[in-house]
Amino acid sequence: SNRVGLGTSLWSAQAHMPSVLDSRVTLVAGDGAYLTTSDGARLLDATAGLWHANVGHGRESIARAAYEQMCRLETYHVFGRFANEPALQLADRVTAMGPIPDAKVFWTSGGSDAVDLACKLARRHWQLENRPDKRIILSRANAYHGLHGFGTSIAGLEYNRDGYGSDSLIPETARIPTNDLAGVAAVIAELGPERIAAIVAEPVMGTGGVIPPEPGYLDGLQRLARANDILFIVDEVITGFGRTGVMFASERFGLQPDMVLMAKGITSGYAPLGGVLIAPAVWGRFFADADAPMFRHGLTYSGHATACAVAATNLDILEQEGLVERAAELEGVLARAVKPLADHELVADVRSAGFMAGVQLLPEVPGEAIADACIAGGVVMRAINNNTLQICPPFVVTDEEVSRIAATIQDALDGFAS
Ligand code: PMP
Repeated sequence: SNRVGLGTSLWSAQAHMPSVLDSRVTLVAGDGAYLTTSDGARLLDATAGLWHANVGHGRESIARAAYEQMCRLETYHVFGRFANEPALQLADRVTAMGPIPDAKVFWTSGGSDAVDLACKLARRHWQLENRPDKRIILSRANAYHGLHGFGTSIAGLEYNRDGYGSDSLIPETARIPTNDLAGVAAVIAELGPERIAAIVAEPVMGTGGVIPPEPGYLDGLQRLARANDILFIVDEVITGFGRTGVMFASERFGLQPDMVLMAKGITSGYAPLGGVLIAPAVWGRFFADADAPMFRHGLTYSGHATACAVAATNLDILEQEGLVERAAELEGVLARAVKPLADHELVADVRSAGFMAGVQLLPEVPGEAIADACIAGGVVMRAINNNTLQICPPFVVTDEEVSRIAATIQDALDGFAS
């Protein structure tokens, strides 16, 4: 084979598309929790793609919503002059369902955009508060927050931050530890709270290895932020829209963030869309002074009419089919299914929180090869940070399909055991 595996290189041997979209398997269709390859194989989707396909694949009502919106008005905006109905309606709906009272929302094209926007808003906020020294953005070691300018610069996965030369990264960022509040307090004290603008954190860390928060950690993080005049930004790009059994994980963990980042599950992947929910303490500043300069941030596809129409239908499905409640039910089903894997000789740890789990393999186990063996066994799988298998199925799977995911991992591991 002339193909280059993901494990050795991100450059595909597919001549005209050198990217992480490796060409080993080409998908041609999806329905519910299943995908069909160009060879006609049917795969159970155990990762919801990149944590996004919450309502499952092949939803005709979403396709119809996109078609109808495109026929009417695909999208439009000329700064400050025009809005469109789907964007306005979605703003009303999402701000009402989100964890921030009296929030405003700023739409983006995806999660990385939302991360960058929130970091800019945080720094701008402290400028408007006449505290321009507050610029440092804290993020957690091993965290993934997208790959744009700020996202790359605050990456806790060093392989996403390294390799560009230090001058390429946005200065004044630092890492804090997970599940270690004394460690967080030490970083804040060392850098000086008067220089720190914001903390960015996922409620359940995803790409970092599915790391649930220990009881009290997220609360404590929020408390440290408040006590030190640091904005608390919760990245719900993965957890938002039902993944932890409630609409937003902030609710589950009792958080009142200053900003909440959204993407993925807002459309279940049917259209690119992200957003930032913004608390009055932040957005109020931008209107407090009539002479305040405009916040110059807007993208061609901010509030994209078709993407917002798609999101609305996706939310209708979540509500009408009770899928958030189903995700809450599936949390226990998944936890029980993966628990026995912890005893496997190749497994270091098994973690879950909400309807997502990570099976961390011992460092010497070839995680990508295990993932390939799962795919050969009919279940989509990938290895993320710390040699951890990512389990994050669509909410439409049956209990039996969850068991099948665990059994397929077990078989793949048995194939590699001595
Ligand atoms: N934040 C988190 C927590 C994510 O998991 C991701 C995507 N995996 C992003 C931000 C970036 O989102 P996008 O890929 O839509 O730019």
